[in-house]
Amino acid sequence: MAIIFKRTKILATLGPTTSTPEMIKELITAGTNGFRLNFSHGDYDERDDQINWIRQASRQNGKPVAILQDLQGPKIRLGMLKENMTVKKGDEIILDYGAEHEGTVLPIQYNLAEKVKVGEPIYIFDGKVRTTVTEITSATAIKVRIENDGTLMSKKGINLPDTDFGGDILTPKDLRDIDYGLTKDIDFVALSFVQSVDDIHNLRQILVAGGSQAQIIAKIETKAAIRPEIMEEIVKASDGIMVARGDLAVEAGAEVVPIVQRELIALCRKHGKLSIVATQMMASMVDAPEPTRAEVSDVANAVIQGADTVMLSDETANGSYPLETVAAMKRVILFTQEHAAVSPLHDYAIAKNLQRDAISSAAVQLAEQLKVDAIIAETKSGATAANIASHRPNLPIISVTSEMRSAQQLGLNYANRSYVRPDAEEAGFALFKELKKDGLFGEGSATVIIVSGQQPGIVGTTDTIKVRMLE
Ligand code: PGA
Ligand code: MN
Repeated sequence: MAIIFKRTKILATLGPTTSTPEMIKELITAGTNGFRLNFSHGDYDERDDQINWIRQASRQNGKPVAILQDLQGPKIRLGMLKENMTVKKGDEIILDYGAEHEGTVLPIQYNLAEKVKVGEPIYIFDGKVRTTVTEITSATAIKVRIENDGTLMSKKGINLPDTDFGGDILTPKDLRDIDYGLTKDIDFVALSFVQSVDDIHNLRQILVAGGSQAQIIAKIETKAAIRPEIMEEIVKASDGIMVARGDLAVEAGAEVVPIVQRELIALCRKHGKLSIVATQMMASMVDAPEPTRAEVSDVANAVIQGADTVMLSDETANGSYPLETVAAMKRVILFTQEHAAVSPLHDYAIAKNLQRDAISSAAVQLAEQLKVDAIIAETKSGATAANIASHRPNLPIISVTSEMRSAQQLGLNYANRSYVRPDAEEAGFALFKELKKDGLFGEGSATVIIVSGQQPGIVGTTDTIKVRMLE
C-alpha cells in the first residue's frame, strides 16, 4: 500500500497546553503542518522557545513545518476594571485611553478618539454588549451609549464594524512584533483586521525593507474587507488569506460567514493564493474527546471547497484534547478527500506567469489522464509547486527545493509534501527513486509527472514536463 497524504493541511495554534517541545513533536506526528503563534498573547522569551522547539521537532521528524506569526492588529481591548460592571440599555460610559477605571470611566488599550465618529457602533466582549458612540469627549476619550443589558469585564475585546482606519491598522505593538519577527525564522506574517489593500502594501513595505522572506496572510474579519470591490483586491495583494470566522461573525453577522468563506476560497484558487479556514472548526473539542456532527461537516465542507489549510485555535492552544483534535481533523480530511473530489473551479486562474501556469495546468491534466501516482515539482521559490496546487489536482504534489523557507511555506499548500534537496539536474527524478525505494508509492510500479526547468535552481524557468515510471 502506498502512503496516503492528506491534501488539506492543518495549522495549529500554540498555547498554554501545547507550549512544550514534547507536545510540539506529538502535534507534528499527529498531522500538524504548521503552527500559529498568536501575538495577542505571550512574550518574546516564550516565542524564542517555541520557534526553536518547532524547528528542532521538524528537523527530527524530517517534515518541513510552517511558522505563522499572527499580529494582533487593532484588536482593541478594555483595560483592567476594578470589578465586573453590569450595564443596562440606555446607560452611558466613557472609554478613555490611558485612564484608570473609576465609576463610568473605563480604560481602553487604544486611542479610539482618533478613529471613531459619532453614531458608529462599538461592540464589546465578542458582540455581547453593543454600544453606539455619542460623543468624542476629549483627545483620548469617547462616550458611548449601551444598547443592550450585559456585563463588562477586564480585557474583553472590542470590535468596530463601521470604523475606517484609513489604511493605518498597524499598532505600535504590531510594529515591535514585526521587528522581532524580522530576526526570527518565520514563514508567514498574518495581519489581523485588514480593511484595505493599503494595509497589505504597508506591511509588505516593512517586511521587504527588513529583508524578510515571509509571506503575508490577510485575515479577513472586518466588514470593510468583504466589500465586493475590495475583497478580490486584498486577495491579489496578499500571498494568502485567512477566513477569520470568529471576528468576522461578530462584525458582519454569523450568517454572512459561510458565503464569504466560499467566495474567498474561490478567489484564492483563482489567483493562486493560499487559503486558510479558521476558528471554531472543532471548538467543542476544547472540552471533549470527540467532535460534534456539525464540526465534522464544517471541516469536510472546507475540504470539498478546496481550502489549502484548516486551522485550530483554542482547541490546540487551551484545550484538553489537542492531539485528539488534530487526529480527528486528519481523519475527516482523509475520508472526505477519498470520497469527494474538490469541486472544479469555473472562474479560472489569472496567472502572473503565463508560461508557468500553462505548464502547471497541462501537468495536472496529464496526471489525471494518465492516472499517475503523484506530481513532482522542482521548485526554487516554491511558485511552481504552489501554482500546480492552485489547480487542485486530486493527487499528491511532491515538491523538491533547495530552500528550507520554500519547503516550509509550501507546507500549508493544498496537496503538497515538501522535500529539501540541493539544486541538481534531475533532482525530481532522484527524489522519485528515493521515495520509491522508501516504499512511499507501495509495491509494484509507480508513475509520476515531473515538472521542472532546464536551469535547475533558477526561479521562473519552469519549462518541462516529463513522465517517469519505476518498477
Ligand atoms: P483571532 O483570529 O483568533 O486572532 O481572533 C481569527 C478569527 O477572528 O477568527
Ligand atoms: Mn480575529
